[in-house]
Amino acid sequence: MSSNLTTLVILVTLLHVGVFVIMIMIRLRRDEPGTAGESAKIKSCAVCSQPATHLGYDGLDPDERHDPHTGRSYSIDMTHYQPLCATH
Ligand SMILES: [Zn+2]
Repeated sequence: MSSNLTTLVILVTLLHVGVFVIMIMIRLRRDEPGTAGESAKIKSCAVCSQPATHLGYDGLDPDERHDPHTGRSYSIDMTHYQPLCATH
């Protein structure tokens, strides 16, 4: 009877160790440079770090232009554009 209990305890311990190892592997896989490279392709929002959907003018170009119809300022210099998410 006590040997059955010992076997059960060993089995449960092995199960826990197995789950623990799997969780560590999942965590390591997330931190791999490969996955980081994939997320780097999608630029993150310059304001809130959410995935960016478009480029937005930062308003800092000394030679900025104004749209005669909408009055919105814009730049012909692409270095003044930064990735922004849908809300920014
Ligand atoms: Zn944002």
